[in-house]
Amino acid sequence: MAAQPEPSLILSFEDARHLVEEHAARLRPRGKELVELLDSVGQVLAEPVIADRNFPPFPRATRDGYAVRTADLAKLPAKLEVIGEIKAGVAPADVPVKLEPGQAAGIMTGAPAPTGADAVVMVEYTSRKDNTVEITKGVAAGDNIVPVGSEAKRGERLLSPGMRLDHAAIAVAASVGRSHLLVYAKPQVAVLSTGDEVVDIDVPPGPNQIRNSNTYSLAAQILAAGGEPVLLPIAPDEPGRLRELISDGFEADLLVLAGGVSMGKYDLVEQVLAEFQAEFFFTGVQIQPGRPLVFGRVPRDRGRDAPGTAGEDAGAKAYFFGLPGNPVSTMVCFELFARPMLEALAGVAPRKLVFLHAKLKSDIRTKTGLKRFLPAILSGEFEQAEVGLALWQGSGDIAATAKANCYIVIPPDRERVAAGEWVPVLLR
Ligand code: AMP
Ligand code: MG
Repeated sequence: MAAQPEPSLILSFEDARHLVEEHAARLRPRGKELVELLDSVGQVLAEPVIADRNFPPFPRATRDGYAVRTADLAKLPAKLEVIGEIKAGVAPADVPVKLEPGQAAGIMTGAPAPTGADAVVMVEYTSRKDNTVEITKGVAAGDNIVPVGSEAKRGERLLSPGMRLDHAAIAVAASVGRSHLLVYAKPQVAVLSTGDEVVDIDVPPGPNQIRNSNTYSLAAQILAAGGEPVLLPIAPDEPGRLRELISDGFEADLLVLAGGVSMGKYDLVEQVLAEFQAEFFFTGVQIQPGRPLVFGRVPRDRGRDAPGTAGEDAGAKAYFFGLPGNPVSTMVCFELFARPMLEALAGVAPRKLVFLHAKLKSDIRTKTGLKRFLPAILSGEFEQAEVGLALWQGSGDIAATAKANCYIVIPPDRERVAAGEWVPVLLR
């Protein structure tokens, strides 16, 4: 079966992305593990985290000042009897338990308000003499006190499976006393770079050779997305060895190839994948960088445990991407297409690509027909955010891309985008 890409297998960016999202939605992570709280940072939560008590557990003062009954402040200034002082963290036995009419209690931020108090007056609006405090400014009922359980009720779900654990989620886990969390096991992603001219980084390159950067940029992207890269040796442009290495790659949960997917005489990747009874969902996408881009799957060997534990047919198939070998194309295509599949295998709840908008610094002229993701530099803050193209020499220019921090997105129907226009930007 000769692998000639049919024109119908070249999709628009949107169609290709939707297709990947549909397949990703059927994948399931392959296992769970219990890890220490700080080892869970950046991992994907595999269990709900539940409030073990009310948040806050007591009516919490949010200011230093005096706990009062607002009914006593009808006329200002008001003089109230101070019956005690409540510090954060003191035992209930040491705390004034109830305010009677005409009474106030000194209170610190984070301390429990006494029964009867319905507001805290900030210390700035009070003056104290012995056991009397004079209140000079009124407060409304509820001011500066957070009621019991108003942030969350005991038993409520605070974090859901599928979320990546960032510092805010860690704060929640810590506040409910979780020293360990159940997270999804990281999927293994095999990385296979191809090309006779490509040599590994510890080999001195000959004059016509190129050091392998794709394996390492992909591994970095896989790590950042929550996967475990499995680095395969470089495959030559020769079917026998390529076949062996592709076969090894299918042992992983996902196989990502780079190079050898264009139309050249020695671009053998599709041809060899076809020998594995590959089903190709697309063999090209109308984007720059990265037009030749292959997505498909092969049947898994019988008896081998598939990554998917659920989902109709996904469990019996091994998915692959054949990314273009040009290093910038490799990076961009991974981010746009391979990442959602990896994230699904990692247990991340599905999400759409997020763009922000910034003002374009200078005119861009392009040809129509391709959706472009051009390396760019975003600078300035807040409403001064502006973005300009990195001065790059095309899809091989890793030096310019490393200086960039985002991609400007240009729709396929635009020939010119004018300086000052707000353009969509994909952050890196
Ligand atoms: P290909 O997609 O195989 O036609 O390769 C396109 C371009 O990317 C060629 O200039 C290759 O030399 C270059 N290239 C391919 N693989 C790698 C790699 N692993 N590291 C760096 N450059 C590569
Ligand atoms: Mg090649």
